[in-house]
Amino acid sequence: MGKQIKAAVIREKGKVGFETVTIAEPKANEVLVRLVASGICHTDIAVLEQFLPVQYPMVAGHEGVGVIESVGPGVTDLAAGDRVIMTFPSCGVCDSCKNSHPYACEENFRLFFGGDYADGTRRLTGADGVEIGIMFGQGSFATHAIANQRNTIKVDVDSDEALAKLCSIGCGIQTGAGAVLNRMDPRPGSTIAIFGVGAVGLAAVMAAKIAGCSTIIAVHGRRGRDLAVEFGATHTINGRDGDVSAKIKEITGGKGVQYALECAGSLDMVTTMLDSMAKEGTAILVSVTADAELPIRLEPQIMNPSLTLAGAVEGCSNPKVFIPELVKFYNEGKLPVDKLNKFYKFDEINEALQDCHEGKVVKPILVF
Ligand SMILES: [Zn+2]
Ligand SMILES: [Zn+2]
Repeated sequence: MGKQIKAAVIREKGKVGFETVTIAEPKANEVLVRLVASGICHTDIAVLEQFLPVQYPMVAGHEGVGVIESVGPGVTDLAAGDRVIMTFPSCGVCDSCKNSHPYACEENFRLFFGGDYADGTRRLTGADGVEIGIMFGQGSFATHAIANQRNTIKVDVDSDEALAKLCSIGCGIQTGAGAVLNRMDPRPGSTIAIFGVGAVGLAAVMAAKIAGCSTIIAVHGRRGRDLAVEFGATHTINGRDGDVSAKIKEITGGKGVQYALECAGSLDMVTTMLDSMAKEGTAILVSVTADAELPIRLEPQIMNPSLTLAGAVEGCSNPKVFIPELVKFYNEGKLPVDKLNKFYKFDEINEALQDCHEGKVVKPILVF
């Protein structure tokens, strides 16, 4: 049974090839989504280039948006014809999930990168009869995907074109905006520094403005400075240019920032971030992955300033609540995520992945 779809399958490191594969019917609590568009995020590059230990064959892609074609048994809040954003998966039964903290799901690493759905099975089969894994409980680099209702969020938009602009809300924007609004929850008037202004960092800048931070310092690389200013950064610092933490201290009257977010994927930046904090500051990591080790001088950097250093997966978000909030901010003009987008045809996926990898485009979007 099932239907034939077109999918971009990874069978060896660094290579994506189009294949006709079979997708099964949705099982209990699942939906079949016809993709309208999918964002590309650096985590897709990590899967493609084996920066993370994933097994192939796999269909990557985890910022899919589309229209529900059919629903499996037990689906309650979604129906055929609904326009949806797919987001990160969670098991639904562990302590974190029961406490509405699905980002901290005990199964999250397996569900993000293991290739299977939560029940340990797969829905895609290649022409050779061998099953194909999917990333993040969706695998959005395909014309169709199956997702659980837990990671499928209905959005109120009136066209596919409008929906396609919102892809990045499913991962990158949720990660950056959530780290600020959910994890930090800064009081109005707070000071914040954001290290790295790709899609995640720019979302954090927008969120810091929404939260009413009065000093928003964007530490940028070759690109991103102008967008950071457009979205609300009050100060910018070139991260490659001199003593960044000294400049942050100077901007904040010698105190350092109360909040900081590292989303540049750079260990050096983490060290700089720790040296840039005010007393009792909160420093959040969202992008440093794999087995990176960080030298920390405990007394001066953590103990004496009573600093909090923490990680935040997917913006510490409960997506059923937070994604509709982000869409509302977008509709109000406070979260202009569409300004990050560059659209590509699905057939141009290799070019889009390359542009993402090289940082030429903040948010490449594949359109189906
Ligand atoms: Zn769970
Ligand atoms: Zn992502």
